[in-house]
Amino acid sequence: MTAEIILPGATLGVLGGGQLGRMFCVAARTMGYRVVVLDSDPASGAGSIADVHIKADYKNQNALEEMASQCDVITLEFENIPSESVRFIADKTTVYPSAESLEIAQNRDLEKQFAKKAGLQPVPYFALLQESELQENDLQKAADEVGFPAILKSNTLGYDGKGQFVVNNFTELNDAYDQVGKVDCVLEKQINIQCEISAIVARNAAGELANYPVSENQHRNGVLHMSIVPARVSQQLAKQAVENAAILANALSYVGILAVEFFISDDNVLYFNEMAPRPHNSGHYTKDACVTSQFEQQVRMICGLTPGDTRLLSPVVMVNMLGDLWQPDGQPYWQTIFAQNNIKLHLYGKPEAREGRKMGHFNVLAEDVAAALVVANEVFDSLCEQ
Ligand code: ADP
Ligand code: MG
Repeated sequence: MTAEIILPGATLGVLGGGQLGRMFCVAARTMGYRVVVLDSDPASGAGSIADVHIKADYKNQNALEEMASQCDVITLEFENIPSESVRFIADKTTVYPSAESLEIAQNRDLEKQFAKKAGLQPVPYFALLQESELQENDLQKAADEVGFPAILKSNTLGYDGKGQFVVNNFTELNDAYDQVGKVDCVLEKQINIQCEISAIVARNAAGELANYPVSENQHRNGVLHMSIVPARVSQQLAKQAVENAAILANALSYVGILAVEFFISDDNVLYFNEMAPRPHNSGHYTKDACVTSQFEQQVRMICGLTPGDTRLLSPVVMVNMLGDLWQPDGQPYWQTIFAQNNIKLHLYGKPEAREGRKMGHFNVLAEDVAAALVVANEVFDSLCEQ
């Protein structure tokens, strides 16, 4: 069967209206597609630049039906879209990625099991699931198997370090488990991380694949702070990460953009951490530094087009801008950014800056990563200091 090809003029839908949806809208509209966004927030950054913004909950069947009737294909920008909603619209129009892929990526236990089966190596962990009629001694079993220090993570609905607790002994584990509300969790061994990297892969319905260069990611408080490309890791580990991401995309018969996060331990082992069934914060560098951005690529993949060239045109450092950088007068110090001629600024159109809220990012392009890092750090520090 040849996969359907959807050409400019057609209408694309996106479930979710945050920054990833907004950048998808820009890419899609640039290419001549119409875009419908579903998001209940009237101030949605994606909704404000879509052709149509349906302001409703992800579970609202009338809204989902209306969206499906308008769209040739629908994708998502937020991984906690209820998979039942995806199944509901999949009956009416095409949705990528599939509800099955989404369900695996939404669940830490399932994604680790899937990755392991596909031959990847997840961090050693123990699943604490309600359905197994969890007993006090299961916590003990988890502790015995995983050891300390460990990280307790809620099995679903976590992001940007939320729903996670570092625990150093059994008492702390007990307390953390209470605090998380005894929901389904995984207890993971805390790895001595040398470096974190991510690999983004694009796949269309015909099975054509394209891999982006691996990015080196630095986090602060569990939130991505900076991505550095090319990553300063061995070619062998970078190649392994890219291959692993492709293995997962193929095993899932995945369509769209799949981002896979890895840890490199201090003894040089590549561990699978998690995957995201959508464009990823660590792929924002592609907007200025690659032939095809991850958002244009998402359009191409769901429309059945050939994957665009993922070649890196310049070394790049991406820096996230959280609401913390906004001053009481409601603005960051723009002049420190605009004084540089090699910085590309991207803002997400969020009306209000709050601490920890992702407001935008900037990409620094330079001759090499070392030079880009100097500018990125200088500019970021001066934004904080003033
Ligand atoms: P999220 O869904 O919030 O991104 P992650 O599982 O990726 O959750 O964890 C966020 C960050 O916390 C990681 O990028 C890493 O810096 C740190 N972290 C998570 N799990 C581990 C672990 N097992 N060992 C060491 N650090 C970890
Ligand atoms: Mg993560």
